[in-house]
Amino acid sequence: MTTVQEKGTLSISTENIFPIIKKFLYSDHEIFLRELVSNAVDATQKLKKLAALGQYTEDLGDLKIEVSFDKRKKTITVSDKGIGMTADEVKKYINQIAFSGAAEFVEKFKDKTDASDIIGKFGLGFYSAFMVADKVELITRSYQASETEAVRWSCDGSTEFELNPAVKKQRGTEVILHVNKESEEFLDEFRLLRILEKYCRFLPVEIKFGTKEESVEDGVDKDGNKKYKTVKVDRIINNTQPLWTKSPADLKDEDYLKFYRELYPLSEDPLFWIHLNVDYPFNLTGILYFPKVKNDFELQKNKIQLYSRQVFITDEVKDVVPDFLMLLHGVIDSPDIPLNVSRSYLQSDSNVKKISQHITKKVADKLQELFKKERESFEKKWDDISLFVKYGMISDEKFYDRAKDFALLKNTEGKYFTLDEYYDKVKALQKDKDKNVVYLYTTDAGRQDSFIQSAKNKGYDVLVLDGLLDSHFINTMEYKLDKVLWKRVDSDTPEKLIQKDEKPQMVLSQDEQNQIKSIFEKAVGRPNMTVSVDSLAPDELPVVITLSEFSRRMKDMAKVGGGGFPMMGDMPDTYTVAVNGNHVLMQRILKAESEEEKTRLARQAVDLALLSQHLLTGAELTCFIRRSVEFIA
Ligand code: ADP
Repeated sequence: MTTVQEKGTLSISTENIFPIIKKFLYSDHEIFLRELVSNAVDATQKLKKLAALGQYTEDLGDLKIEVSFDKRKKTITVSDKGIGMTADEVKKYINQIAFSGAAEFVEKFKDKTDASDIIGKFGLGFYSAFMVADKVELITRSYQASETEAVRWSCDGSTEFELNPAVKKQRGTEVILHVNKESEEFLDEFRLLRILEKYCRFLPVEIKFGTKEESVEDGVDKDGNKKYKTVKVDRIINNTQPLWTKSPADLKDEDYLKFYRELYPLSEDPLFWIHLNVDYPFNLTGILYFPKVKNDFELQKNKIQLYSRQVFITDEVKDVVPDFLMLLHGVIDSPDIPLNVSRSYLQSDSNVKKISQHITKKVADKLQELFKKERESFEKKWDDISLFVKYGMISDEKFYDRAKDFALLKNTEGKYFTLDEYYDKVKALQKDKDKNVVYLYTTDAGRQDSFIQSAKNKGYDVLVLDGLLDSHFINTMEYKLDKVLWKRVDSDTPEKLIQKDEKPQMVLSQDEQNQIKSIFEKAVGRPNMTVSVDSLAPDELPVVITLSEFSRRMKDMAKVGGGGFPMMGDMPDTYTVAVNGNHVLMQRILKAESEEEKTRLARQAVDLALLSQHLLTGAELTCFIRRSVEFIA
């Protein structure tokens, strides 16, 4: 039996370390379990390594780690069959090294006012046990020691510890937490299970927590039918070989889908995925999935899980993954991400920046490859992935440079074009007198249908840009593409949408135009609508009401609070009422006998235009319906 029998004082410069640990790690108390289980995993992996190197020749046996609890005794126990520690090692690793880690934490904490800033996600290792325990016991037997050469260390949360000889049948370490009053919530099967499933789900060594019932074959009955019985088996809470640790060459689509379902049981299958596998200049593995995007995309954020050597760290990947890829799902595992430091440090860390850039590049590569190899299926997926791609193009210069070759524009016929293809398609017909090519778009094909039809009658093409980010996307594209203007299809009359050199013909004389103008001004009677008499095609509508591209964009910007136009939101929209001088109705109005009849006809034409812009409501709508009935009667 070893002769160690010691009492001692943990050498520290900072007193009262435990109250500080307890107080300031409060929100993250549950991580104690992650820390202890990770230590158990490390100890097991070390033993396996020694065995592989031939330095440990005895039977490794069952290496399962076990987590258990005793509600009556108020204990939680984590035990492993790893390398264990000798008395000297306990002194060195637990009394000195582990403790100095905790002391360093307190040291850092001293100068900070914002505790959350320094409490890294990695906690404090072994001493985080004191967040939930009054007393911690550690019984350990080194792989080199015999049954009677084990040691028991214990510490009651003061700076004093005890170290005694002990007897332990199995190799390895057992950590027993005597749970404190405030932490009794952890003495609960489901609570512990949830914590284990959160942090330890993909750890590389099997972790047993309790038992579960399983149905197994039990011979056959007299008719030759199989019999079954229920037996109790170990409940293993983790998958020791998660997909991202395997080689992509060995995996099939079905494996990726299966893993996705394992991660997000309630989600629809993803569109496709990217298997990340980097070992230089940093280590990174992972799988990123492109999900089917739902409209409420805010809710879908934070779906990527960050791991460090298969230990779950966080699902707040803000600084590691570029913003526009936050909507992706999946896992990233990197031992190189400095997780035990503050958020601000993470942002400035050059490794983290590189990781983020690398992920961006990989995503661009994958999209490019899909586009090149399977254009048809890429087009099918486009509506779902356009949000990521456009977000990336808006927010990331490097990504833009890659994406401009595979980003697609969709027109009202449901056809897809790359930026270059589209330019070629419309450049002849949609060039204005200043040699700008005008791209027409609709944000709502249903409501803007009459304008779309008018544009099509002139042979123009109309794009559908009705996504969440499309107004930003248009701004970006306008800036990027030289000599291309973007106009919503209802922002002007079909004639003026694309200004040409040749002046269209006007049937009315100047005098008649003046008459028509004043008749319509009276009929419109709204201060925010300006009347103009235009020469539209005779088969166009008699009146077209438009809101200019400029005013609409100002209004949109004010709505989202960007662009520094807070006033615009309150201002009434100024519309243009374009009266088609070439329409036969104008002749009829001019020839009408009474003033009253002229106004009545004009009112009817204006109301029809208001109706098509969804601007006719309430009493005005009722009045219009009455008048229409009179007309047909
Ligand atoms: P870290 O794990 O980050 O090194 P910890 O405070 O968690 O810091 O642990 C300090 C040291 O104590 C470990 O590096 C290891 O040498 C030793 N140790 C802790 N738990 C175990 C265990 N279950 N088996 C063997 N050694 C352990």
